[in-house]
Amino acid sequence: MVTDKVHDETKQGEAYAPFKDDPTVYRKRFYIESYGCAMNFADSEVVASILHKEGFGPTKNVEEADLIFVNTCSIREKAEQTVRKRLTEFRKLKKNRPGTLVGVLGCMAERLKSKFLEEEKLVDIVVGPDAYRSLPGLVEEAESGHKAINVLLSRDETYADISPIRLNSNGISAFVSIMRGCNNMCSFCVVPFTRGRERSRDAESIINECRELFDNGYREVTLLGQNVDSYYYTDNSQQAIAEPVTFAKLLEKVALISPLLRVRFSTSHPKDITDEVLHTIARYENICKYIHLPVQSGSSRILQMMNRTYTREWYQAKVDRIREMVPGCGISSDIIAGFCTETEEDHRDTLSIMEYSNYDYSYMFFYSERPGTLAQRRYADDVSEEVKKRRLADIVEMQNRLSLESNKKDLGKTFEILIEGDSKKSGKDWMGRSSQGKVVVFPKKHYDLKKGDYVMVRVNDCTQGTLLGNIVH
Ligand code: SAM
Ligand code: SF4
Repeated sequence: MVTDKVHDETKQGEAYAPFKDDPTVYRKRFYIESYGCAMNFADSEVVASILHKEGFGPTKNVEEADLIFVNTCSIREKAEQTVRKRLTEFRKLKKNRPGTLVGVLGCMAERLKSKFLEEEKLVDIVVGPDAYRSLPGLVEEAESGHKAINVLLSRDETYADISPIRLNSNGISAFVSIMRGCNNMCSFCVVPFTRGRERSRDAESIINECRELFDNGYREVTLLGQNVDSYYYTDNSQQAIAEPVTFAKLLEKVALISPLLRVRFSTSHPKDITDEVLHTIARYENICKYIHLPVQSGSSRILQMMNRTYTREWYQAKVDRIREMVPGCGISSDIIAGFCTETEEDHRDTLSIMEYSNYDYSYMFFYSERPGTLAQRRYADDVSEEVKKRRLADIVEMQNRLSLESNKKDLGKTFEILIEGDSKKSGKDWMGRSSQGKVVVFPKKHYDLKKGDYVMVRVNDCTQGTLLGNIVH
């Protein structure tokens, strides 16, 4: 399966796997579970670091935790329902262990604020995405029997100085947050309300974090932001006016750390990805030839209502440009079925733009109206659930066909693969990824290789989700 791992269904609700630690040195144990996009998973690593510094020890056994945190997602109603269900399970746990504190972090905390404390009686702490530094104080407040809340959004918080503790990492790939918030007002989206204004993190701190990861054996970093192409950082601390760092420059700086460090990034808004970025991707071998370029819809009318600021034709021209400047580049997308007023013709436009773009992979959703968004205020959610689901099924079917076709085109080709670990099915096979993000499985044979090594693999078979091959010299 091709995935940029940005919203990985297999990881939803994944708990914190602790590093080796000394159980005697911690005053309390915390457990943290994450939902939603990669930004949330990266944020949980920042939270773990903040708590750890304050003497809290990690555990992946919720039963022994004094503090239970859920890092939440509000993007669709279903995501919120999953969290609510989980919280009721914690209610039972709390009954058996009075004194255990439950905290809600992230987007749902920001969206529901104190309503959370009223509605969900079992919640003790509510913390928005920009307020994690205040967690230790809030825990103290909750320990003294008061409900604790901080949902202030910030214009400049980037947690730049905090070195995240890597959670459940394979030791090879890591997420590095390069910016926070979003200034695009896509009409369906709750993110600008839950994560606040866009701000870019200090470039130097990003490079340092990536370098440190490389020195610790990591071989792949994914630079994260809601809209990475609008990254723009000026160092105001310098006396002379420093040159601004654009996303293209940042990519280059990270790529220059070592040719052995692969660089990925997500997400690119089609309106912001520039020729300069594409040139940079093409120029550096270790910048992965893979772009997540969410289209959302193939109909210009719907795109306008979504406030995506591009038309179908404009998007297609961008895909053409990528294919021209970065030959062999993998492209994936996010697609929403059944947005307000969507007709069968609009839906067919979505299917045809998928075919035009030849996506290797897509994240596909049906529209879920979110309170407070522009779409909720302006338009009726007038496509029935039945129709939404049928259209989504069409979209999934189209993507399955495109993914298989894309994999078949790779038969007979040789790719450089970064080994991530054993394949899921057998300890006799390695699993790794091509630069295009495709999962490749191949027999270990007699070769003396390990996780984090690069190896050339010739593809000789495939399924819709995986390439299969053999090591070549
Ligand atoms: N910033 C990224 C972008 O612009 O593509 C991704 C943001 S969001 C976390 C990931 C995806 O969720 C979006 O690209 C969109 O397809 C989907 N999404 C957002 N709001 C949605 C909604 N109300 N209903 C269904 N899907 C939604
Ligand atoms: Fe949401 Fe649009 Fe911002 Fe992505 S770019 S986070 S879809 S508002």
